[in-house]
Amino acid sequence: MNKKDFSRRDFLLKASAIGAVAIGGSSVLAACGGKEGASQAPAAAPAAPEAAPQTASVTCDDLSGLTDQEKQMRTALQYVDETTIADKRCDNCQLYIEPEGDSPCGGCKILKGPIAPAGYCTSWAAKQA
Ligand code: SF4
Repeated sequence: MNKKDFSRRDFLLKASAIGAVAIGGSSVLAACGGKEGASQAPAAAPAAPEAAPQTASVTCDDLSGLTDQEKQMRTALQYVDETTIADKRCDNCQLYIEPEGDSPCGGCKILKGPIAPAGYCTSWAAKQA
């Protein structure tokens, strides 16, 4: 065995060890993010905070068509027309329904009644791509 062969063997052993570490590492990372991947993924790549809401304040408080129970649901989920959390708004929530026609208010898959694009409630969930 000459020095060149030893170097090649040494290289192959190191390369396979690095590969094993890379595979093991990716498995560990996948396992760490697997259970709560949807809620954890955005935290891994935080975006710069938005400066200001993109729309002027919209009031979506006409609850005349709602039952008492539906109104209570809005209250229980602490719905507000204007969020205080810059990156959590109804219009970037998975449950938001875009406005139709000329209405500035959209809807929500779990809350009845008009929903402001800049609104927020405690059931906010990041919109999936
Ligand atoms: S779940 Fe809450 S944050 Fe999401 S669209 Fe409905 S009211 Fe807005």
